[in-house]
Amino acid sequence: MRATTAFNKMLVIEGASVRAVDFTCRGVEVGLRLRARRLRCPCGWSTRAVYDRSRRRWRHLDLGAAKLFLVAEIRRLHCRRCGRVRTEQVPWARPDAWFTRDFEDVVTWLAQRTDKTTVATLMRCSWAAVAAIVTRVVADHVDDARLEDLYRIGVDEVSYRKGHRYLTVVADHDRDGAVVWAAEGKDAAALEAFYDQLGPERVRRLQAVSLDMGSAYAKATRTKAPQVTRCIDPFHVVALANDALDTTRRWAWNQARQGRPAADPRGRRRHPLKAERHARFRQIKHSRWALLKDPARLKDSQHTVLEELRRSRHVLWRGYEIKESLRDLYRLDHPADAARHLDAWLARTCRCRIPAMVKLSQTIRKHREHILAAIELGLSNSKLEGLNSKIRLINHRGYGHHSATALIAMIYLCAGGITVSLPTQT
Ligand SMILES: [Zn+2]
Repeated sequence: MRATTAFNKMLVIEGASVRAVDFTCRGVEVGLRLRARRLRCPCGWSTRAVYDRSRRRWRHLDLGAAKLFLVAEIRRLHCRRCGRVRTEQVPWARPDAWFTRDFEDVVTWLAQRTDKTTVATLMRCSWAAVAAIVTRVVADHVDDARLEDLYRIGVDEVSYRKGHRYLTVVADHDRDGAVVWAAEGKDAAALEAFYDQLGPERVRRLQAVSLDMGSAYAKATRTKAPQVTRCIDPFHVVALANDALDTTRRWAWNQARQGRPAADPRGRRRHPLKAERHARFRQIKHSRWALLKDPARLKDSQHTVLEELRRSRHVLWRGYEIKESLRDLYRLDHPADAARHLDAWLARTCRCRIPAMVKLSQTIRKHREHILAAIELGLSNSKLEGLNSKIRLINHRGYGHHSATALIAMIYLCAGGITVSLPTQT
């Protein structure tokens, strides 16, 4: 069998046939001849008029240990629709790519699952090439259809580059929190751009948007989508309560250091002995994770820490009860009881004499209506909560250090519900 016949049978390149095979020091070079006479622009327009010709190489999937390249003479055309000279579209590669579709699909499939160094090493290409490939393939998969049929959405900011830069991310609550849109920035203008892209028709169909407690996204929603019910995402409420509890812990520590018995929420004062003070310090110091963790997931030692706080009627136990009672809001059997539960909580907490908790109650009171709206509309188990950790994972795998464009592509790939098939999966 001739080498060209063998490669024709092996590679099965769509729209072309193998006319030569060269074994060079760089690897195997397979010369192709395009079958189509007509030149097709990436925009879809086609012609028979050739503007000029040139040779181009594409990296294809490896042949054993050897790198494999496809080489073909391709033509440029003057596209009437694009109004400029463009390179013709070939069936085996995406426009402007130096890799074949199969190669790019494998890289992207891997990028969805593993870290950047592994992908670059396995595929023998550079980090920059991995990023460029992912961006190109995701652009191929992301279309405007994802913006259709949006009813309940969530908006959140996510940080990258160690918290120096921000993205605004929009997710669809009705599709398990799949990301439908992302852009740079975290101000009102960033979200307004989303509503603009959606257009008035699709904005009218929106019913609810869940947000954080900041003013930027609320402002953008008020101006661009005034009819939409604004909700506060439950995880922002819980995070705020955790912050307040952590502040309380530091406050209690300072109180203990100054010899003031912070363990007394009802105002009785007494001076602890030295040993007792030492025990208090230890108690406060060791309580951090026990206080912040979900009670259902506590370790035995953490249960003991909490039990000690409870028995000594420590101020931190009071703070803990306040936090858990607020979390109960999202665990009610009957959502109709939410308003009553929240009001009782507010009345109790604003009189608790723990500064951070009083402040928390004031913030919660300000957002009461939107917090209750989230429960009423069933957005109380937010799908967005996992988004931040997904993006942290993307960063951790080495994809978050470069441009916002590359990171956004990775977010669509890993959190946007995109399915990339391997060339071997048909
Ligand atoms: Zn064109």
